This record gives sequence, C-alpha cells and structure tokens, in this order.
Amino acid sequence: MPKAQETLLEIDLKALKHNFKHLKSKLNKHTQFLAVVKAFGYGSDACEIAHCLQELQVDYFAVAYVNEGVALRHAGITKPILVLHPQAVNFKTIIEHCLEPSLYNAKVLNEFLAFASAEKQTNYPIHIKFNTGLNRLGFWENDVDFITSKIKDATSVKVKSIFSHLAASEDLEEKAFTLNQIESFKNTSKNMIDALGYSPMLHVCNTSGLLNYPEAHFDMVRSGIGLYGFGNSDKENKHLKPIVTLKTVISQIHTIEKGESVGYNRAFKSDAFLKTATLPIGHADGIGRQYGNGKGFVTINGQKAEIIGNVCMDMIMVNISNIDCKEGDEVIFFDGKHTAENLAETINSISYELLTAISQRIKRIIIQ
Ligand SMILES: *Cc1c(COP(=O)(O)O)cnc(C)c1O
Repeated sequence: MPKAQETLLEIDLKALKHNFKHLKSKLNKHTQFLAVVKAFGYGSDACEIAHCLQELQVDYFAVAYVNEGVALRHAGITKPILVLHPQAVNFKTIIEHCLEPSLYNAKVLNEFLAFASAEKQTNYPIHIKFNTGLNRLGFWENDVDFITSKIKDATSVKVKSIFSHLAASEDLEEKAFTLNQIESFKNTSKNMIDALGYSPMLHVCNTSGLLNYPEAHFDMVRSGIGLYGFGNSDKENKHLKPIVTLKTVISQIHTIEKGESVGYNRAFKSDAFLKTATLPIGHADGIGRQYGNGKGFVTINGQKAEIIGNVCMDMIMVNISNIDCKEGDEVIFFDGKHTAENLAETINSISYELLTAISQRIKRIIIQ
C-alpha cells in the first residue's frame, strides 16, 4: 500500500471475499446467505461491499432503515433487500424501490397491509419477525393466530420469510438460553407454516449463530460482522480478515517541557520532557473522547503511541517520546494486525461500535 498522506479508511475487497468464502464454507449448499450491510456496511462503504458480494452470488442483503436500502438500489444492487426496521412513513419508498419490510408488530403489519392493498400490490414480499428472547423487536409466539388471520387471505402480500434474532449467540455460557430461543423459533415457525398453508424461508442466525449453532442455519443465515472480519472470539477471528484499515499521518511534532500541558482543559500535564505528535483525526471522525487520556493508542513505525489528553473534534495528540518518527509519517489506528477490536477493547467497547462510528468525512479507498 502507498503510505497515507491524509486520514484514510482502506477497504480491502480481497479480505471481504476471503471472509465471505470462509463463512459460506460453514453452510450446506441449500442454505442461503444474507449479507448485512446496514450502517454503511458497518462503517465501510455499503455500496462497494454489496457490489462485491452481489458478484459473488450472495443471495440477499439486509439494512436497518429504508434510506439505506434506497442507496443500494441507486447503486445498482438488484438482489432482494430486507429492511429490518422500517417505519410506516417510508412505506411508499419501500414499494417504489422493491425493498422488503420486516413486520414485527400489529401496528406495522396493519399499516403495511392497508398500504400495499391501497397501492394495488399482489404478493408483495414481507418478512415476519418473532421475538424469542431478545425483547427488542418482534411478534410474540402467541400472535400467530392474529398474524395469519390478517394475511392468510390477503392477496396484497406474501410471507417470504419468518425470522428471529439471537440475543447471545457469541456467548457459549448462554448456550441454554440460545437453544431455547432456537426451539421457540422452531415451534412458532411451524405454527405459522401450518396456519399459512405454505412454507416461507426461515432464518435466525447472525454471524456468531452461523459459527456456533450449525443446527440452526435453517434456510438462510444473516451475517454482518463476520464479513467485515470479526468473529466475536479469538478462535473465529483467526479465520477471518478485518477488511478495513484506518490510517492517518503525523501533522506536527511538539516537544513538551516538564510542567506544560497538552490539549483542551489541560487534561494532560507532563511531569517530564516528552514528544507528542498531532494527528488529523478526532471525535468528529469517530474516535470518541473515551479514547483520550491514555486509554486508546495508535501504531507508528511498528510502535505503540498512547493518546494524550482529551480527544479534540478534528485532532488527537499521541505520545511519541520513545518512537523514531517524523512529520509526515504514517500512523495506524487499526488494521489486520492491530485490530479495531483491540482498540475498542481499551474503552470496553466492541468492534461493531468503533467500525460504525467512523464518519463519512473520512475518505474511503477501495483495494481490489
Ligand atoms: C445487525 C443484525 C444482524 C447481523 O449481526 P452480526 O452479529 O453483525 O452478524 C443480523 N440480524 C439482525 C436482525 C441484525 O439486526
């Protein structure tokens, strides 16, 4: 890679392909693969990711919100797109862009049914979501009669899938709970199928579900974080490659005398002579203030440099006292070796949060 001359987020499509192949190798050949590309493809570039995966014959995409699905359609994505959390105000946009809503309670179901029939739709694909223990979105087990009474004779919609979401698939200490979710999903989906008289696709696994519960792959799995290179455990991480690298450059080097301070509110006060480097990236770029004051670190010429003082909106200062470096040198926030997960751990956060926080202000570079 050429050395960075500004803050860049590099997106490695070769690593993405590797992750996709690895995850797919865990499935039997009849199980479909849904790629979750919500939140700008976990902070990377949803359209580039989706194009790459569409070429690799992924079966489905999912986004959280309607506008994310619209962006994919505008970018030429033609595969089906499930919208996990649609709002009624966007139903027209959903239909105009052939997006497929997840319907998770009586209110959205009724509203979508009314809308689809007013728009003279036939067999419009919908997905019914059940709550099996996450207690976030979804119908309850005992809503089956209500749901099927509403849609059995409705010609405007057709149930394309029935699904649920696991609460703790990465945590094997919660295995009993997860197996219980899977069991409850089996019962509920069977009741739905019996009442509907046809068999929609069934899916329940996210990345860790895919990896830890092969018996629960059903007809499709929904993978997000795994595609981006994280498997929520050291064991799984070994087989995956983080697809993004966040790098920047040293803008300026300062020498700080004993008793001087660095940054806003004088949060860092030096008790000895030291050298700092100022970097062109800040909390407006997704490196939150929690990383300040010695928590987070970067890598410069292979060595670790702690963040000093408060993180500013557009800049960060790091301690380079023991590092041989100069203005213009490259700085790594995270890459395949010093990963986003490692950095996130310094503030008790997770790869998901750090990756999706990387702001749109940072230039994306696609590596083919
Ligand atoms: C975000 C999300 C996923 C993807 O989860 P990963 O842990 O990133 O694989 C799957 N299903 C639903 C409902 C989600 O919200």
